[in-house]
Amino acid sequence: MANETKDYSRYFDFSDAKIISEDEHGKRIRIGGREIFIMSEPSYRREKQRGKEEIKVLYEEAVPEELRTFGKGKKYIIQTYGCQMNEHDTEVMKGLFEHMGFEWTDDRREADVILLNTCAVRENAEDKVFGELGNLKSLKLEKPELILGVCGCMSQEESVVGRILQKHAYVDLVFGTHNIHRLPILLRDAYFGKEMVVEVWSKEGDIIENLPKKREGMRAWVNIMYGCDKFCTYCIVPYTRGKERSRLPEDVIAEVRELARQGYREITLLGQNVNAYGKDFTDRDYRFADLMADLSKIDIPRIRFTTSHPRDFDDKLIEVLSRGGNLVEHIHLPVQSGSTEILKRMSRKYTRESYLELVRKIKAAIPGVVLTTDIIVGFPGETEEQFEETMSLVREVGFDSAYTFIYSPRAGTPAAEMEDNVPMEVKKERLIRLNDLVAELSKRSNEALRGRVVEVLVEGRSKSNPNVLSGRTRTNKLVHFEGPPEWIGSFVHVRVTDPQTWYIKAEPVRQETGAVS
Ligand code: SAM
Ligand code: SF4
Repeated sequence: MANETKDYSRYFDFSDAKIISEDEHGKRIRIGGREIFIMSEPSYRREKQRGKEEIKVLYEEAVPEELRTFGKGKKYIIQTYGCQMNEHDTEVMKGLFEHMGFEWTDDRREADVILLNTCAVRENAEDKVFGELGNLKSLKLEKPELILGVCGCMSQEESVVGRILQKHAYVDLVFGTHNIHRLPILLRDAYFGKEMVVEVWSKEGDIIENLPKKREGMRAWVNIMYGCDKFCTYCIVPYTRGKERSRLPEDVIAEVRELARQGYREITLLGQNVNAYGKDFTDRDYRFADLMADLSKIDIPRIRFTTSHPRDFDDKLIEVLSRGGNLVEHIHLPVQSGSTEILKRMSRKYTRESYLELVRKIKAAIPGVVLTTDIIVGFPGETEEQFEETMSLVREVGFDSAYTFIYSPRAGTPAAEMEDNVPMEVKKERLIRLNDLVAELSKRSNEALRGRVVEVLVEGRSKSNPNVLSGRTRTNKLVHFEGPPEWIGSFVHVRVTDPQTWYIKAEPVRQETGAVS
C-alpha cells in the first residue's frame, strides 16, 4: 500500500489570490473576498537549514506599556494539543494574555479570543484541529468580533498555512512557535485590522527570557532548551521547532530557585532532547549532567526531565542521576524500534545493542529505576521479524509503560518518501499486540509493589471519585487512596493494597515509615 499522505498540493493553488500591496513589512493579498496580511510565512526549506548564526539571549518586557490594559473586560481561551512543550507554551501565552488584562473563561460563547495551540506530530492530531476549526466557524459567524487564532507546530507547516488561507479564511490570526513573545502585538493587529494576520518565522529567533508564565498546581515545567537537530526521518519537530538552542544555566537555575521559593513541589525540565543540553554553548563546557548536578542542590523535592535521546545519554549523567536525592528514578527513554535496521532507516543513530547496553548501565547504577518509552509501529517497510525484535526488546527491558504510535507520514520528512508496503490492518494488529505486552509488563511491575510503602505527591481528587485522592510516586506511577483534601500538595506515604494495570490502589500509613519508590 502506498503512503497515506494527503495531497496538499491543492492548497497551494493561489491562482485566485490577488496581491493588493507589498513592502518591507509584508504583503497584503486577497483570497475569496478575505484580505490577508502575511508578515512572514513558513518554508520547509528554510526550516531545515541549520546556520551557524549565534543565538542571542534577550531579557525583554514582552507586553509594551500601551498594551497592558488592552484586554481589560475581555476573555480568552487557549485549547492545547500535543506534548508538554505545547502545554508549557500555553502557560507562557496565558501569562501574556493576563499581563494585557485579559481573563480566562471556560465558556466559548463569552470568549473574545480563542487560540488553538496545535500539534503536528501525527496526522490525527492535525485532523482534530481542522475538525475544531470547522466547529468554531458557526461561532465566528454568530460573533464576527471573536478573534480566532491558530498557533503552535501546525502553523509552522507550509501545507497547513496554505490550507487555512484557502479553506478557513474566517481565522483571524496565525503565528508559529518561534514568535510567541509577539502575541500582544499580533493580537492588537488582528483586532484593529480587518484582515487575517499571518506571522510565522521559519527561522528560530533569539531566546527570550522574562516572559510571564501562568502556572497552576504544585508541579511546574521548565524549558531548558528549544528545538531539535536530530532529524529522525519520520519526525516533523526539527522543522516546526527549529535548531537546538539551550537556555543559559544561570537562567534555568534562577527559575528553578524561584519555583522552589514559591513552594512548587516538583519540576519537569523540558526539551525535545534534553541530553543535548549545552552542546551549542561556545563559551563554556557545561552539559546536561552539570545542570542536573547544580539543580540537585536546590531545595525542591522532585526533579524530572523529558525527553532523553538515547544517543546523548552519557556516563556522567548516569553517575549524577545515581546520586538520587531530588533527582527521581524515572527515565523516559524513547527507543522507537527494537530493530537495528529500522533504527538506521529512522536515523536514530543507535543500535538495538547499544540501547540495551545503555539500559544495562542505567539499571546497574540506579536501583529500582523505572524506564518508559515511545515506540512507532509500522514504519515504512517494517517486516514481521523487525516488529518481533521490538516486542523482544520491550520484554527484555521491561518498560513500565510506553506511548505507542502507528507511523504517520509527515509531508516534507524523508520517511514520507519511503516505499511502504505494510498494510494498515497489519500496522493496527501490531499496535494491539504491542499494547497488550506493555499492559502485561505494567501490571507485573505494579504487582511487585503490593504491600510496599511508597511516597506520593498528592495532586488532587480522583476524577472518578471525589472521596479518593490521586498522586504520583517518584517513579511517576499513578496512585489512588482515601484521604482528606488538606493533603493535596503534600507528600504522603501509602501502602500499596491493590495494584491495577495503569494505576495503583493504596492506603495511607503513618509518616515515619520509610518509602521505597
Ligand atoms: N524528542 C522526543 C524523542 O526523540 O524521543 C520525541 C518527540 S515526539 C513529539 C514524541 C513521539 O512521537 C516520538 O518519540 C515518536 O514516538 C512519536 N512520533 C514522532 N513522529 C511520528 C510520526 N511521524 N508517526 C508516528 N509517531 C511519531
Ligand atoms: Fe523528533 Fe527525533 Fe528530534 Fe525527537 S529527536 S524531536 S523524534 S527528530
